[in-house]
Amino acid sequence: MRTLYIEMNYQLIINNLLKMNRHKLFLFILIVFTANLLFAQKNKSNALQDLRVDVVYLASDLLEGRETGTEGEKLAAQYIAFRFEKMGLKPAGSNGTWYQSFDFKYNSNPHATSGGEDRSGKNVLGYLDNGAKTTIVIGAHYDHLGHGGVSSLAANDKSIHNGADDNASGIAALLHIAEYLKTSGKAKNNNYLFMGFSGEELGLVGSKFFVENATIDLSSINYMLNMDMVGRLNAEKVLSINGVGTSPLWKEALDNIKIGDIKMVTTESGVGPSDHTSFYFMDKPVLHFFTGQHTDYHKPGDDSEKINYEGLLDVSNFIITLIENLDAKGKLAFTKTKDESQNRRAADFKVTLGVMPDYVHSGEGMRVDGVLDGRPGAKAGLQKGDIIIQMGEYQVKDIYGYMEGLSKFKVGDKTKVKVKRGSEIIEVDVVF
Ligand SMILES: [Zn+2]
Repeated sequence: MRTLYIEMNYQLIINNLLKMNRHKLFLFILIVFTANLLFAQKNKSNALQDLRVDVVYLASDLLEGRETGTEGEKLAAQYIAFRFEKMGLKPAGSNGTWYQSFDFKYNSNPHATSGGEDRSGKNVLGYLDNGAKTTIVIGAHYDHLGHGGVSSLAANDKSIHNGADDNASGIAALLHIAEYLKTSGKAKNNNYLFMGFSGEELGLVGSKFFVENATIDLSSINYMLNMDMVGRLNAEKVLSINGVGTSPLWKEALDNIKIGDIKMVTTESGVGPSDHTSFYFMDKPVLHFFTGQHTDYHKPGDDSEKINYEGLLDVSNFIITLIENLDAKGKLAFTKTKDESQNRRAADFKVTLGVMPDYVHSGEGMRVDGVLDGRPGAKAGLQKGDIIIQMGEYQVKDIYGYMEGLSKFKVGDKTKVKVKRGSEIIEVDVVF
């Protein structure tokens, strides 16, 4: 079984290579060589071997940094789908496929108010159906920075940013957890949706698109776990867990976990610079797992040989234990964290503008990060980069004000929306 899996793995890599630059064959040989060495070491657990193969492949130069919309991103998506399929998950993307594609405008200047190039990316979705009423979303982004660009911290360095920790590590953990939950027969009181997000590095684009266009019933989602950079567990074994304020059950469930001497540091907020934020804004309890910053962050040096694989396995098993601890607890209650106003519920929304908020915009108003075709915002002429400052009589000071304002309207209502576009302030007519 195991040999077969590895052979098929390489068959996939070979198939991809045939379509690509033949000079990359050298790299392929390197990967096979490294992996063969690993597989000869029978004292290593199969789980560690899988984590290594996943990270080494995803963070190899062959995938050129997995930038959203590139060939490398497609190869990564294909690899994740291949792994999902081999472990027996069901496709949960659009039209019975493993993928959910999304189109967006990308502008390398984050302050640009219009223009940009057309890009598309895809989320990868695998489903484990236990016949339960509720579904847990477990996700990690697989895209990275390609050859650098505006988010790179290595100025003007155009070499490949391999993103081993950010976030091949999260995908490897995702695959480990998925395989465990599929084969162990444990924790069957929920279904599981395993998601590889794209577009994260360009502004949480994939996860925002998913929550606005969910391929499962959004109301059935119990909670969401996000792994972003979990490959560098340090000598003190400190694991950061963000979002523990988003449900009253988190702390108790986390306190009982004893895996590999991991020590936790926690923060309350459900809002942070990764994909869990998109789910938090849908009133879902969320956690973000993170092994901490390092000097290779968003630089070409974030490579697979610097990953702490034993630590990555411990973090993965830590998350599995959390899921098991919560298995009999039913649907977790959601609590807002203190960065948010206290009177908004997802259920309050009868309408949507069909725009993607920029959750990390810190200035006044609500900055629009993307506009979905055919929705009220697009029909009114709203554009990416617009900053909404007023909706009808409701002032929009920040994203929470926007959510608040939105909750006052119902389908068919007409209102004027005031936006800042560059240095201008304009008004558009919106019909919900
Ligand atoms: Zn990341």
